[in-house]
Amino acid sequence: MTTLDAITPFIDELRPARVVFAPDSFAELPAELHRLQVERAFIVSTPGRLASLPPLQPLLDSRLAAVFDGAVEHVPVDVVKRALDECRRVNADVCVAIGGGSSIGLGKAIAREARLPLVAVPTTYSGSEMTSIWGMTDASGKKTGRDPRVAPRVVVYDPLLTLDLPSTVSAASGMNAMAHAVEALYAANASPVAQSLAEEAARLLAASLPHVMSTPGDRDARSTALAGAHLAGRALDLAAMGLHHRLCHVLGGSFGLPHARTHAALLPYVVAFNAPAAPEAMRRLGRALDVTDPVAGIASLARTLGVATPLSVLGLRPEDLDRAAEEATTTAYPNPRSTTRDDVRAVLDAALHGAPVDSA
Ligand code: NAD
Repeated sequence: MTTLDAITPFIDELRPARVVFAPDSFAELPAELHRLQVERAFIVSTPGRLASLPPLQPLLDSRLAAVFDGAVEHVPVDVVKRALDECRRVNADVCVAIGGGSSIGLGKAIAREARLPLVAVPTTYSGSEMTSIWGMTDASGKKTGRDPRVAPRVVVYDPLLTLDLPSTVSAASGMNAMAHAVEALYAANASPVAQSLAEEAARLLAASLPHVMSTPGDRDARSTALAGAHLAGRALDLAAMGLHHRLCHVLGGSFGLPHARTHAALLPYVVAFNAPAAPEAMRRLGRALDVTDPVAGIASLARTLGVATPLSVLGLRPEDLDRAAEEATTTAYPNPRSTTRDDVRAVLDAALHGAPVDSA
């Protein structure tokens, strides 16, 4: 007889978002803005990102209100302020974020503060475009929250825009997407929808990312990775974040570590720590990765992608461990395995040195 999965009680809020996924769909951006009935687009992006895209002026014509290309990681509050001033000055009625999670993060801040609809054109695998999660960093660290107003109303995925995504960013943001899938698989509130999305996301990412690294111009590999990132973002939107995301927010917001590379470096250690408390999630993860040992599978994927980096290389110092562990345990968050400050410190210590990852 087939064993039945235990279904834990859940509440899902599936947001209506229009998702356009096709090669060359960037050319459809004016039609999508027309459909939204907006006329003055404020474009946000990271420095230099727009240079390799089809030029915006002929594409958007009179719908182009202004471009702000000063987005950076972790959404610093002073950058938000400068962008908002410009957005209000040009009287924009929509914000269009083009780029990775940094561009979309700035777009979310503008959508929230200026009450504008957000359109996202993602060009990395961060998955931020599918979530209502916002983040902002000031002198006291990184704050995050959920707010339906920041969720993009339209997402235009054009895999061709990812062909020039550098290998290091592809691998790191790909593992960031994998982390979304993993934490959605074992989240206490994960519904059957979230778990199904997460498992399929992990499968698509594990299958495609090694090909993206070996053949960056392979359109099928790029499309599959982008679809995996899309599903991972959707799964994260439906699930509570656990220890892994908490640690990454602390390391990025308070210690200045790079977001996606930190996700990639830390994920194997957090999976190893949580695995004994999440057998069903590990069964699904093993199936998605097509391995019998999902902890070893995640560690091996990180090595294959060249992102199994000790946190010391990313800027964390041994003397930071106590404060990082303290910050990561001051507020409660759901995690399959209960965590003490010493547990968190031990996970960080192993990741700091790039110690071998222990399988469950
Ligand atoms: P990123 O947006 O900072 O991009 C990294 C670099 O790649 C930038 O220099 C960018 O210009 C460049 N780039 C992007 N797309 C490119 C392309 N196709 N070709 C060439 N270069 C390209 O990095 P990221 O990892 O996508 O995003 C990290 C940020 O996203 C962090 O601030 C993180 O907190 C946030 N994030 C938020 C969520 C959420 O749900 N709110 C989820 C994941 C990540």
